[in-house]
Amino acid sequence: MIYTIEKITTLIGARRFGEENANIGFLLTDSRSLCFPEETLFFALKSGRNDGHHYIPELYRRGVRNFVVEDVPENMEQVYPKANFLKVINSLEALQRLAERHRDEFNIPVVGIAGSNGKTMVKEWLYQILSPNMHVTRSPRSYNSQIGVPLSVWLMNEQTQVGVFEAGISKPGEMLALRDIVQPSIAVLTNIGTAHQENFSSMEEKCHEKLIFFHDAEKMVYDGDDTLVTKVLATFDYKGEKLYWSLKDKTAPLYIKAVEKKDTATTITYIYKGGEENRYSIPFIDKASITNSVTCAIVALQLGITPDQLDERMQLLEPVAMRMEVKEGRHGCTLINDSYNSDFKSLDIALDFMNRRPDHKGRTRTLILSDIVQSGEQPEKLYREVSDLVCKRGVEKFIGIGPVMFSQRDNIQVADKSFFTTVKEFIHSPVFDNLHDEVILIKGARQFGFDRITELLVQKVHETVLEVNLNAMVDNLNYYRSFMKPETKLVCMIKADAYGAGSVEIAKTLQEHRVDYLAVAVADEGAMLRGNGITSNIMIMNPEMSAFKTMFDNDLEPEVYSFRLLDALVKAAEMEGITDYPVHIKLDTGMHRLGFDPEHDMEELISRLKHQNAVIPRSVFSHFVGSDSDNFDEFSAHQFELFDKASRQLQAAFDHKILRHIDNSAGIEHFPERQLDMCRLGLGLYGINPRNNGVINNVSTLKTTILQLRHVKAGDTVGYSRKGTIEHDSVIAAIPIGYADGLNRHLGNRRCYCLVNGQRAQYVGNICMDVAMIDVTGIDCKEGDSVEIFGDNLPVTVLSDVLDTIPYEVLTGISNRVKRIYFQD
Ligand SMILES: *Cc1c(COP(=O)(O)O)cnc(C)c1O
Repeated sequence: MIYTIEKITTLIGARRFGEENANIGFLLTDSRSLCFPEETLFFALKSGRNDGHHYIPELYRRGVRNFVVEDVPENMEQVYPKANFLKVINSLEALQRLAERHRDEFNIPVVGIAGSNGKTMVKEWLYQILSPNMHVTRSPRSYNSQIGVPLSVWLMNEQTQVGVFEAGISKPGEMLALRDIVQPSIAVLTNIGTAHQENFSSMEEKCHEKLIFFHDAEKMVYDGDDTLVTKVLATFDYKGEKLYWSLKDKTAPLYIKAVEKKDTATTITYIYKGGEENRYSIPFIDKASITNSVTCAIVALQLGITPDQLDERMQLLEPVAMRMEVKEGRHGCTLINDSYNSDFKSLDIALDFMNRRPDHKGRTRTLILSDIVQSGEQPEKLYREVSDLVCKRGVEKFIGIGPVMFSQRDNIQVADKSFFTTVKEFIHSPVFDNLHDEVILIKGARQFGFDRITELLVQKVHETVLEVNLNAMVDNLNYYRSFMKPETKLVCMIKADAYGAGSVEIAKTLQEHRVDYLAVAVADEGAMLRGNGITSNIMIMNPEMSAFKTMFDNDLEPEVYSFRLLDALVKAAEMEGITDYPVHIKLDTGMHRLGFDPEHDMEELISRLKHQNAVIPRSVFSHFVGSDSDNFDEFSAHQFELFDKASRQLQAAFDHKILRHIDNSAGIEHFPERQLDMCRLGLGLYGINPRNNGVINNVSTLKTTILQLRHVKAGDTVGYSRKGTIEHDSVIAAIPIGYADGLNRHLGNRRCYCLVNGQRAQYVGNICMDVAMIDVTGIDCKEGDSVEIFGDNLPVTVLSDVLDTIPYEVLTGISNRVKRIYFQD
């Protein structure tokens, strides 16, 4: 649906500057996602740290002409002669208002989904169940935020027959806006869990906040057996129809009479609104899938799907891959695997994701795409649109797979293109063999079997992997940012290969989230990041005298902690003819490791800095010895005092601003009043709260698989030196991880355990170099099953406590041969 700019001006109550006519089809809030500039309306949003107004010049250059702003640029007639600026008080509210007015245009059922878990799965499954009967518009991926929801609702158009949207909140007060935008006629509450609990005083408060979403909905769908929900609901004046389900209450609108699990499927017997007994089956047996399917069943029956149709479609439900997987592939390729779904909108999002990766220059951007499974569009038109999109998104090599794709090959306008009717044809072709040094987006509807392509392209080295959840890392980043003023800058410590998580992918994500500095230990780490397209400021904490040239060549800014280092650096810079090279001055306020003495060295330091122009102090800092413990508060205060005085002295000697910083992860949380100009975030980013050894959001999960199972009789022993005595007949599993992978030998001999299908399995006997043995007696498992060494379900601190060390040592000890796999929504 196209809106004129005049209409939008009225709808959002803006004051318009500029008189150009324009038709708007696309809303944009993130400049990196620009695709169709002429028809785009950009909302300059101000968030804590970022200000969308900064991107106006760049967007204007790229062809955007329409902007919603809080501040109209000066001299706009001269600088932006062809632009329209719509001035509002708050750009985010304007975006939400526009979505709300757009929603008002539709008198169709709209399903709104709120709750702590399962929103995306319910939404995608509803799509799978409903879309053969009706045209469904839904939130792309998990667009469920204050920005994501309006962008999702905007996607409704003349063809839409039902809307299905997610609503997610992280703090009180957010739900009201989302309700007004979605205006759900059927509101679904999946459940109430503990996510984002830190911002709510109680579960009930959170439950209440969620219920705001339901207030005016005609129908509300929820779990009638959930006591918290029913309790809160009883106190809440809800006038609509309550469509709850229950396993106990025979009078429930959806009474679940039986749930029968078989090997790979579950059959659910139900009675809907007192009618006949019916049943449906799903190809899953886990609890979340069963619950989500019941929720979908109520909504679908409510929307007129018959019990037979329901059963037919439930059996075909596909798992929802929630996250895009990035993997290192063979021959220098990076693989982005998106099997989420295969419609046009999700292709756009995946291409956008690919483009945001600052991978090596000189690598080809390749797309492997299956037939697009989307009802209602003429293939010619659809594939011409696909061609337009992939060209705009900079795809250089196009590989199309599937019969429709093959027949539409002339409509794809990418110069380097090839087409195959099946995956098999493709993997036996020279096109497959010739893939090298490419960033490859693999996007295929499930029935095409693209898994096979990924399997063949991934480097297989070892069956032990470290899974790194980039979303969790971003959540941790935001957790710490919440203690900081918006203007305080942030250094993220990614030394020691990002505390073991792998510095390149971590750096890419942090760069995308616009942290001010990245810090690594040595120059080679920094150079490697540059080689991988990292353009952020990079600090080198332990600059070696032999690596100055590497630093200069790669714009790496060294820490300077001694006169000897300073002199050598100045000399090296002078020889290269370099002036004003930024450096970071470290003061020793109590660690007694490295640094200038704040009480005795300052005058000398200032004088030496003043009498040269090769380097310039960009920042001055010191490091707390014990900000993680209240026991050291007095000492920390003493450190701060020394630092405060000496750093002011340094600043006073120079006209330019010198950033002062001392807070590390624990300091940010414990002494936010000492945040000064910048903070340095380390361990907290990777999920460990150094204040209490708790986990904020777990980032890294170390996993392996069972290689072999065997029965061992009582009296026998397991492993080297006959250390693992078996007292009762036992089942022992061998797993391919040993001390050479970073599994410390001191965890062996039943001192620690790992998790097999959620149950604890102790290490038996000595841990070997490449293999360990665990006791799985009584645990339901088989060869090939996954084993968690630490991670989402087993905090790394359990291991570090057994080893009487700190989690840093365990995390940084994971060896390089363990492949890192990154996940991102
Ligand atoms: C490692 C390091 C940090 C980060 O410390 P965390 O406790 O992990 O937050 C901060 N500053 C310096 C100088 C460091 O070496």
